[in-house]
Amino acid sequence: MFDIGKVNILEVIGKVVDLKPVGSEYRGLCPFHSEKEPSFFVNKEKGVYHCFGCGAKGNVITFLKEYYGYSYYEAIDYLSKEFGIEIDVYNFNKEKKVQKLIEITYNFYHNYLMSNFDLLKRVSKFKNLKLKTIKYFKIGFSNENLLSYIKNNYPDLYNEEILIKSGLFYKKENDIKCLFENRIIIPIYNKSNKVIALMGRYLGEISNSTPKYIFNKNSFSNDEKYFYNKISIKTNAKIFICEGVFDALRFFDYNLPAFAILGNTNKFDFIKHTNCDIYIAFDRDDYEKILNGNINNSLISSLIKSLIDTKLDKLHIFDYSSNKEAIEPDETPEFFVNIENYQNIYSFLSNLYEKSPLEKKIVLENFVVELYSKIGSYSKRKLFINNLSYNLRKALLGNKKAKVIDAETEIKSDILLKAITDYNDNVSVEEILSQLDEELKQIFINYLRREMTAIYENPKYKRIFELTKQKMVV
Ligand code: ZN
Repeated sequence: MFDIGKVNILEVIGKVVDLKPVGSEYRGLCPFHSEKEPSFFVNKEKGVYHCFGCGAKGNVITFLKEYYGYSYYEAIDYLSKEFGIEIDVYNFNKEKKVQKLIEITYNFYHNYLMSNFDLLKRVSKFKNLKLKTIKYFKIGFSNENLLSYIKNNYPDLYNEEILIKSGLFYKKENDIKCLFENRIIIPIYNKSNKVIALMGRYLGEISNSTPKYIFNKNSFSNDEKYFYNKISIKTNAKIFICEGVFDALRFFDYNLPAFAILGNTNKFDFIKHTNCDIYIAFDRDDYEKILNGNINNSLISSLIKSLIDTKLDKLHIFDYSSNKEAIEPDETPEFFVNIENYQNIYSFLSNLYEKSPLEKKIVLENFVVELYSKIGSYSKRKLFINNLSYNLRKALLGNKKAKVIDAETEIKSDILLKAITDYNDNVSVEEILSQLDEELKQIFINYLRREMTAIYENPKYKRIFELTKQKMVV
């Protein structure tokens, strides 16, 4: 068994970070985000590191995975060589074989596609893929001869356990079958440009028994599943995040770095440790989920939730309401590659709020409360509230107070309701209205503190609300 206690974490991290002793720990400039004052700490006794700037943390294996993009077994292999520690060679060799098998497979599929002109034409037309793209990413097409090809050329890999563990094959009544049939094959690259899985897009009629997309389940690589389009992320650059692989490939046409999340936003923590601006370019139907009050099923909102704390002012969300013809990056890329078509988090939330009917507003308000609770520091919370209330005011009221008083809509009375929660019974409605504009910033803070439901149920506020409404209709 591998004994991690024999590893000196300072030596491993010290190769890339200049560490200086501070008290019982060591400190240096964080290798995961750019900073001028060191906030990256390493504790030799505990064998862990932690960054107070970006939240990166873990042990020596996490570090090797995050910094070099190693797999678990690659990290173990590296450490065993560095520190002369024995490892479980048996499992390590199996992982290497599976990795080799995946590599052979996508090359085989790629060569098959490249040598079949009619198929190549069909594939490139189907998803608008340029020849350059197909070559660069080694995109291929499945072929039933894969198994015999492996048997004839790589007898050491032709082993049932390895074949099944790679996820590229499965067993059916004692026969070994290929997972991919009649599918465009796209290697899935991680941020270290390593292929971690293959994706197959079915070319033909889609039915329940033939899903559009499938992936091989490689039993050694379960920690990350996203597609990176291999364009390097430089410090302070932009990263686009989209739903599907074909979307990310479209950004490649414009030489812009993009990740496809492949349906799961949870594994996206590494983005927090970059200094990049994030541009969320998910599909229109996902945005419409939010508009319809179905915010908890939306990918946009779950990505915002996971990035709000570290990326508050670096989050940009595609603006569907001003770009009516935009559908998704894959189909209408010209909209998505232009960063002027994105909104910051504040305009995004305010515009949504303005567009939502009253009953859906509550869902959105709860979402904002949830976002607020995910922001760690007081100064960032303040920034969030101030910017959001400013944008809300602009979106809902315009800049003139007069508009509030003339308004008849429920939207505005809803805002007024929040305003009056701060006043007691002996203050007149006129007074409330006259102070409204300056008080709007405060409203939002108070709103967050109280939780809206409690306010609605309070008879005192209900009465003021009614009064305010009457006043507005006059
Ligand atoms: Zn950091």
